[in-house]
Amino acid sequence: MHTAYLLALLAVASEPVDVGFAQADITPDLTAGKDVWVAGYGPGRKATGVHDPLVARAVVLRDAKAKDKLALVCVDLVGLQYPVVLKIREQLADFRYVMVSSTHNHEGPDVVGIWGATPLVSGVDPDYLKLVAERCVKAVRQAEANLVAAEASYGTAADEKLLGDSRQPIVYDDVLRALVFRRRDNGKLAGILVQWNCHPESMGSRNTLISADFPGPTVEALTKKYGVPVAYFTGTVGGLLAPPDHGVHDDNGRELRDGNFEYMEAYGRAVARLAEKAIDSAEPITLTPFAVSAKPIAVPLENPVYKTARMLGVLKRDGVVWTGDFEQTDQPLTGSDPEKQYGLVTEVAYLRLGELHVACIPGEIYPELIYGKIQEPVEPAVDFPDAPKEKSVVELLPGKKTVWFGLANDEIGYIIPKRQWDQKPPFAYGRTKSQYGEINSVGPDVAPILMQALENRVRATASAR
Ligand SMILES: [Zn+2]
Repeated sequence: MHTAYLLALLAVASEPVDVGFAQADITPDLTAGKDVWVAGYGPGRKATGVHDPLVARAVVLRDAKAKDKLALVCVDLVGLQYPVVLKIREQLADFRYVMVSSTHNHEGPDVVGIWGATPLVSGVDPDYLKLVAERCVKAVRQAEANLVAAEASYGTAADEKLLGDSRQPIVYDDVLRALVFRRRDNGKLAGILVQWNCHPESMGSRNTLISADFPGPTVEALTKKYGVPVAYFTGTVGGLLAPPDHGVHDDNGRELRDGNFEYMEAYGRAVARLAEKAIDSAEPITLTPFAVSAKPIAVPLENPVYKTARMLGVLKRDGVVWTGDFEQTDQPLTGSDPEKQYGLVTEVAYLRLGELHVACIPGEIYPELIYGKIQEPVEPAVDFPDAPKEKSVVELLPGKKTVWFGLANDEIGYIIPKRQWDQKPPFAYGRTKSQYGEINSVGPDVAPILMQALENRVRATASAR
């Protein structure tokens, strides 16, 4: 090897970071004598068996110099709620930051409430939530015990054909992002973190077998190829990114249709092949020091369906009095009070991990808000044609090496650009009825609030360590 080449290699080598991976099983027990209600689509879907296990996957990062550690967790669930995440954090108080996100799996137990036996009863089993919290803590502690000194690299690969978008405007986030960790002592792989942007709903609404959906086969294929732990995280899934209608084939080139395990496996493997490209292209990145800026915020609950669900006790979260200031979260509101507007408390965070910029977003953000591709010119028939365009995530993050975690620490539903909110007639794009989306959003002000909150977090980090 030439000296010049060696020097060049040294020049691009990244600063070390300690990394540990671990996982814990969170498959519900169907033999415990309780019905398990499957989340996603409509209510009333009772689980009849287990096809493949549900898992909580944890990655712990430690800056050995600063004695600073973070945990990133993802669970194969539809969307773990903020109150549960706060309980998990109580057990991990020695961590600088703990982020718990969900893949948004549509084939796992209800952990929100709206998918019970009927729309009038919650589908959540509090004992299952306890189990999930315990296992997340266990996975993080095990990942911590597995810490090794490592060097990280970062790679991306894109493929629009792996996504369908069922809502206009058609905007994708077709970039898969990967963080690859190699041990410092022997250069061998230590683990891989993957972030991809797609609803895990390749099985469709008729399946009643518990499954992790396609992230299961994606992780399995990558683990088999590389022989190390792989953690899958969901980024943006709003707007509405899902597995495609066409272009998924079996090994003999036969095109598959979604709604069955064959499609799920094939799609999962296709995502794994895209991840291989990202892993192959990865270049050294420094992930230390860590800067963390996270803050609870309130968002006004305007969705009438969610309001009714709160009154019925189907949605049980306590909140705060909505004051008009999203950073004011100090006036608790328990139950329903017709005199006061309910504010849902959630959290937005920005992490600067060395050269990597991370946005933690508590729901299903539309890719329009990631890339600044909000409908232009505005569709005059929308409900708020004069609403200013929100700043985008790529505009707010002060660097090009990025990862975003969607459903981070919470699942508050769709985060829709305000000037694309379109619930009342007439409808945009000459349609005769509303597009799907608003029915599963807290309200039209969620996007402006969240994007402003992210801007505030980035600004706070610029001045602080
Ligand atoms: Zn969704």
